[in-house]
Amino acid sequence: MERRTFIQSAALLAVGGIPVVAGAAEESGAGGSPSEKARVRAYRPLGKTGMQIGDISFGAGRLNSSALVLRALDRGMNYFDTAPDYGQSEDHLGEALRKAKGRDKLHIASKYCQPMAYQAGKSHLQLGSKEADYIAAVDNSLKRLGTDYLDTVFVHALGETTDFEAEKKRLLDPEMLAATQTLKKAGKIRFLATSSHGPNHMEALMLEAVRSGHFDYIMPAFNFMKFPKVPEVLKEAHARGVGVVAMKVLAGAKEGSMKFDSGQFEQAAFKWALSHKEISGLVITIQSAQDLDLYLPASGQPLTAADLRVLDHYAALYGADYCRTGCGDCLGACASGVDVASILRYQMYFEDYGDEKRAMQAYATMTPNAGACESCADGACARACPYGLPVAAKLRAAHRTLTMDPVAA
Ligand code: SF4
Ligand code: SF4
Repeated sequence: MERRTFIQSAALLAVGGIPVVAGAAEESGAGGSPSEKARVRAYRPLGKTGMQIGDISFGAGRLNSSALVLRALDRGMNYFDTAPDYGQSEDHLGEALRKAKGRDKLHIASKYCQPMAYQAGKSHLQLGSKEADYIAAVDNSLKRLGTDYLDTVFVHALGETTDFEAEKKRLLDPEMLAATQTLKKAGKIRFLATSSHGPNHMEALMLEAVRSGHFDYIMPAFNFMKFPKVPEVLKEAHARGVGVVAMKVLAGAKEGSMKFDSGQFEQAAFKWALSHKEISGLVITIQSAQDLDLYLPASGQPLTAADLRVLDHYAALYGADYCRTGCGDCLGACASGVDVASILRYQMYFEDYGDEKRAMQAYATMTPNAGACESCADGACARACPYGLPVAAKLRAAHRTLTMDPVAA
C-alpha cells in the first residue's frame, strides 16, 4: 500500500463575510435555526482575485433543485461550481440566484462547454473552436443562469486524452484567450481558471497553467491517497499568486462500507486537503441537505491525530483497490490501447458517486473498451500499477457494470 505524507499544519484563515440571502430560511424547511446547523466557518483568499471563498464549496454537478442552493447559502457557502453539461445545473442555480440577494458576494464558476450529454470530454469546447464559439458558450451560460456575469469560466477537464501537446494547445488556445479578453472587457467574466482530474499529465498541465500567467486559479484532483507531485504545483501556484481549489478530495468515496461515525471520514479527508495552506478551498458535490450536515462540520477545523487514523484506516481498506484519480501511471501499458484510468474513473462515477447515466454514456463512446480485457492474459496493466491494483479484474468488472451485462448480476 502506498504510504502517504500527511501535512499536519492546518493554517486555516480567519472567518470571512457570510452572504446575505433573502428567502433562504423559508426555503430550508429543515427545522431548527440555521445558526444551529453546521455552516462554513472559514473563508480563504482565492489567489489574487480579491475574493474570499468558503473553504468548503458547492459542486453543482448533480443539482436538481434551487432550494438546495438556498440552503447552502444559508449555511455560508459562497462558491458554486456548475457547467453547461451538468444537466439542469445552471438553470437551477439561476433560479436560486433570482431568489437570493447579494450576487456580488457569490462566486459562480462555469465552463467553456456545451450543454450536451456527457461524452468523454466532447462537451468541452475542443481545439479548433473559434473565439465566437467560446463567447457563445458563456453567453448561453449567462442566459441559463439569468445573470450578467460569471465570476469564473474554466477550461475544463484537461488531460482526458493522452496527447500532452494537444492538451497543452487546448489549455493555451489563442482563440480561447482572445475570447476571454473580449468577455472580460464586456464585463461578462471576471476570472479564468482550469481544471484537471487527469488521468493524463495532470500535474504537468496544471503547472503549464500556473506558469502561463493566464489563469487566476487551478482546480486539480487532490486527496490523501496519492498525488506526490501535486504539492510541487501547489507551491509554485502559491508563489505566483495563483489560487487552488481542490476536487475529488474523497478518494473514491467508499466510506459507505466502513464503520466510521457518519461524516467522520469525509470530514477527515476535507481537513487533510485544507491543511495545505496553498489550497483556497475544495469543491464537493452537494446533493442533499444531509450532505451539508455531513460535510460542513469540517469547515475551519484543524486536522487532528484522530483524523489521520481515520484516513489510515481508509487507505488500509481501499489502498489496493482505489484507482487514483489523476494518476495515469499505467498510461500506454496496454498493447490493445485500453484507457485503463478513464474506465476505472467511469466505474467510480457509477458505483461510488451514483452517477450511473453519465458513467455509461461516457463509457459507450470508448474505443477500445474493457471488452478487450475479457480474453486477455497479458496483465501488463496490472504490472504497471505501482499500487498493486488487480487491474484486469477491475476492468472486466467495470465492463460488465458499464454495459449492464447480465453476467455482472
Ligand atoms: S487486461 Fe489486457 S487488454 Fe485489458 S488493459 Fe490489461 S493488458 Fe490491456
Ligand atoms: S490502475 Fe493503478 S497505475 Fe493505473 S491509473 Fe489506476 S492507480 Fe494509476
